[in-house]
Order: sequence, then C-alpha cells, then structure tokens
Amino acid sequence: MCASCDAASNGQANGQTNGNGTSNGTNGANHDGFTSIKSAHNPHPSHRSSPYAPVGDFLSNVSRFKIIESTLREGEQFANAYFDLEAKIKIARALDDFGVDYIELTSPAASEQSRRDCEAICKLGLKAKILTHVRCHLDDAKIAVETGVDGLDVVIGTSSYLREHSHGKDMTYIKNTALEVIEFVKSKGKEIRFSSEDSFRSDLVDLLSIYSAVDKVGVDRVGIADTVGCASPRQVYDLVRTLRGVVSCDIETHFHNDSGCAIANAFCALEAGATHIDTSVLGIGERNGITPLGGLMARMIVADRDYVINKYNIKKLKEVEDLVADLVEVNVPFNNYITGFCAFTHKAGIHAKAILNNPSTYEIINPQDFGMSRYVHFASRLTGWNAIKSRAEQLGIQMSDAQYKECTTKIKAIADVRKIALDDTDSIIRTYYHNLHAEEEKPLLPGLTAEEEKKFIEAEKELEGVKEKRQLDAAAAADAEVPESKKTRTAVVA
Ligand SMILES: [Zn+2]
Repeated sequence: MCASCDAASNGQANGQTNGNGTSNGTNGANHDGFTSIKSAHNPHPSHRSSPYAPVGDFLSNVSRFKIIESTLREGEQFANAYFDLEAKIKIARALDDFGVDYIELTSPAASEQSRRDCEAICKLGLKAKILTHVRCHLDDAKIAVETGVDGLDVVIGTSSYLREHSHGKDMTYIKNTALEVIEFVKSKGKEIRFSSEDSFRSDLVDLLSIYSAVDKVGVDRVGIADTVGCASPRQVYDLVRTLRGVVSCDIETHFHNDSGCAIANAFCALEAGATHIDTSVLGIGERNGITPLGGLMARMIVADRDYVINKYNIKKLKEVEDLVADLVEVNVPFNNYITGFCAFTHKAGIHAKAILNNPSTYEIINPQDFGMSRYVHFASRLTGWNAIKSRAEQLGIQMSDAQYKECTTKIKAIADVRKIALDDTDSIIRTYYHNLHAEEEKPLLPGLTAEEEKKFIEAEKELEGVKEKRQLDAAAAADAEVPESKKTRTAVVA
C-alpha cells in the first residue's frame, strides 16, 4: 500500500524508455540463434508431487487463492506509468480476460479524472469485481461508494514511522476511524477490506488489536502490507499465521519487491492462511514494484497446476504483459518469468539432449500451458550433437549419427573462434552435408579471415584430440572395436 506516496505521474519517460533489457521479450519466431523444437513428450508426461511438499497443511490456501490485480492502482505509481482512460480500459479488459478475481483502481479522491475513470470502468460490466483503494477516511469512502465499485480497500499507516512522520495519529484514533468507515461502507452494501500500511514495522500488539476489532464488526478482509519490501518469507509466514488465529475474515497480502522476496512472500502468505494476493502486470509499482502477476503464476502452477489452468486464462499472460510493457514504454526483461526471451531456452548440449527426449528433465513448467515455445540454442560452443541432429532434420537433412557428431565438432570449433548465428550454423550443416557427396569441397563458413581459419583448424584439432582420447578410453574399457566415427571421418575444408 503506497498511499503515503504521491501516485501522480507526469507521464514523462525519464530515461527508462526501452532501457531495461536487451531483449524485446519475444518468444516468437524471431529468436535468432535458436530453434523451436518439438520434444518426444509434450506436454510433460507426468506431474509427480515433490517428496518435499508439505503434507496435510490445513492452513494453506495454495489451492484456493484469489488475485487482486493492482496494475491500475499500484501500477499507476510506477515511475513510467501514465494511463489515460483508453489505456485503463484496455488493461482492465485484458485482466478480465485473463480471469483475475478483482481489479483494483486508484482512489477516486486522488483527482477528478481518477473519479471519472473509476466510474467508467465500473460500467464496463466486467466479470472481475472492481475495487478502489482509498485512505481510511470517511470523506474518501463517501466519494468511492458513489462510483459504482464493488468494494473498497481502505488503508492507514500503523508503523511508528508513519504515525510520526505521515499522518500523526495514535492507535485509538486509527481504530475509531476504521470502525466508522467500515460501518459506513457496509451500510452501502459494499465489500470492505481494512489494511495497515508498513505492517512488518508495526507493533504486533497494535496490529492484532485493530485487526481483531475490525473483524468483530464484519470487515470482509484484513490486509497485510510489506510497503517497504523488508519482510522475509519466514517473517511473513509467522505474521500471517498469527493473524489467522486472531481473525475469521479473509486475509489479503501486498508485498513490495525491494529485497527480492515478493513472490516467495506471497507464496508463504498463502501457506500460512492468507486468501488474497495483490499483483501487478510485470510487477510495476512504487519503486521496483510488487509481486508480478506472471511470476506468481509461475510459482502457483508449480504448486497446483490444475487450480491455475482451470481458473486463469494463462495463455493470455504474454498478451497482457506486452500490452502493459508497451503502455509504460519498457521491454519485458530477458529473464522474465514465463515470457522472458530465455525462459524456455536450453543451451548446454547435455540439457538439449535430455530436453529432446523428455522436457521434464530440465523444465518444471511446461511452456505450452502458457502458449509459449521451447527453444534449443544450438549455435554455440556449448551445443551437442543431439541438438544439431534435431536442427538438421528440421532442415530436411538426414545423416548418420557419426556424421552429425563430426558436423557438431566443426560447429563447436568455429564457435570457439567467433560468435556464430543461426544462419551460420544452418550454413555449416548444409555445406558439411554437401561436402559429403561432392567431388569438390566448399568452405564450411565463407568469409573467415586467415587468422580465424588458423584458429579454427587448431580448435578442431583440439576437439578431435579430446574426442579421440575419450573414445580410446571407452574402447579400452569396453574392450571394443574402433568407434564407428573414426571409420566415417571425412576430410572437410573449413
Ligand atoms: Zn504498494
């Protein structure tokens, strides 16, 4: 909850435009140097439960959580965000298509335009419930209930920092105001949540006392907010579990990501009995933001795939992320959960081989669940012959395993000399294949400098030496004949 921070944005891109990553976030066709692959088993063949999974945890809501999506409230506080009504409607509809349970909007008391936007979104007839986030004050609550929202999320600072440096009220005043606002909102037939701000730096006795009081007068949810991002998962578990024993209403949680725990904290909160998680698309919000919607989906699909895929339209994740990234003028980070450029890209040869046989070997999440593709990066020195074989077959080239292996050795040797792209690798495979049957051999990769050619020959010799040693060792150990690859080696001009 960042009510103490000024949510106004001047809409100017302050040097952040398209500046937070080298990728355009695509997981589509333009994935230079990579090949989209089909694996033997896709989707993943089995989902055996982890032997480390908690057993019979009666507090856990991991399989029945709800999402309060706050891109249009917390997200408006992101440095680069400026959403006009048209943008807000696009985001609200996209989130509704995704299937979030609630959409939280900026306080209608913040500005006249905010109030009009709030009213317009309430009239869209979305399936998601519409909430607005207001200070725990009767004046703000009166404005909010007139907009047509389904509920109010009210917030007030309870930490000593906020009581001293922000609103200057004591706990008795806070409790009395909270009870007054709750009574008013309930009398208007609206849902209401009461939350403290900066909960993890608030006095525990104060917190439990006020939450107990609001629970007794029928508040729908109480909220825990790590407003400054200081909490660890263990602290979250302890606080939520303690609170679970004090109140009977739902528990909403809100985690900032300053120290990198926002997703883990959300998960621990659910394990401890929290019911609702606040998210924003790409995690945008005050400072470096809150629990990202996509990151939470990644965590939760691992915990309970059936719940996630039956409740949320997760194939829409990339679409909603691209929409918001575009509107706030940032790139999706290269290592973003699920939709990042390299989220499902396998590079090391040993990984590629296993992935081609069974993707579960090196993937805990099936990209197809999110409508994404799996890639093998074979244009590198780390590639392996299984990946090269897969690529050659995509190019319509059939060779013996020994030939695939030798071709792979040459690709690795060239990649040791210079960075190679997808086109280079395809060209080497094609030329290698051509040379097998041609009287006159062509250079594997035209345009190498004399220095590069010299290095290539040396690199190839080194790789051959290593391979031969391995083969001889294996042959000696198995008392076997000379390996097949030695019989079929073909001289190839580089
Ligand atoms: Zn916040």
